[in-house]
Amino acid sequence: MHLLCTNDDGILAHGLECLVRAASTLGEVTVVAPDREQSATSHSLTLHHPIRPVARGERRYQVDGTPTDCVMLAVEALMPQRPDFVLSGINHGHNMGEDVLYSGTVAAAMEGVTLGIPAIAISFAGGELQADPSLLDDQVPVVAHLLAHLTGLTNIPRDTLLNINLPPLPAAEIKGVRLTRLGRRVYSDSLVRMQDPRGREIYWIGGGSAEWSGGADSDFRAVREGYISVTPLSLDLTHTRMLDDAPSWWLEVP
Ligand code: MN
Repeated sequence: MHLLCTNDDGILAHGLECLVRAASTLGEVTVVAPDREQSATSHSLTLHHPIRPVARGERRYQVDGTPTDCVMLAVEALMPQRPDFVLSGINHGHNMGEDVLYSGTVAAAMEGVTLGIPAIAISFAGGELQADPSLLDDQVPVVAHLLAHLTGLTNIPRDTLLNINLPPLPAAEIKGVRLTRLGRRVYSDSLVRMQDPRGREIYWIGGGSAEWSGGADSDFRAVREGYISVTPLSLDLTHTRMLDDAPSWWLEVP
């Protein structure tokens, strides 16, 4: 099996190293990852300047682009054969609820699915600063075990990716795996107003705190209760029920 590993935290990230360790137990791994932090770049594509792959060892490339650029470049140029799976992560921080709309980690997996390759995004819900990084090392065998199962599935629908969140616990304390749906995230005070060194007003996005809401089957509840969360995500954002309900709200123009 050929596996493409990428991320949005950059090629030097500890999470990517852990993902590669887990993936190497399943097949041949190629790494194509951004040369720097690209978190929250979502599904952006670099259109207005060229991107350059630089070899950093055997089947390992850094790219001065986004996670989406990396997947496209890997599949269409760098890998001699199409990968059987795209694996993205392990992100330094959770990607639950609305996070998936901003996440470069999830977007890289989406790009795999868009190119017709099944894909899995993995995030560590402890974050880089909040949790002990050795927890992630400890979870590598768990991730390998989970990936062995998921990459063996033959019935993942075509426009679907799997979004995994790992709880910030030692492997022995993880209670199991739960299939979940996306929760909802409510940010408060996410804009911090400051002054630059010349006294001008600036804003920093990403401060404040987040609260979660969602049912017992939501991703954040699973992680909070000590489970690995696996959420299938569909790329088709069409709201089918609203379309079916069109007679009740659509105005027919004569
Ligand atoms: Mn990230």
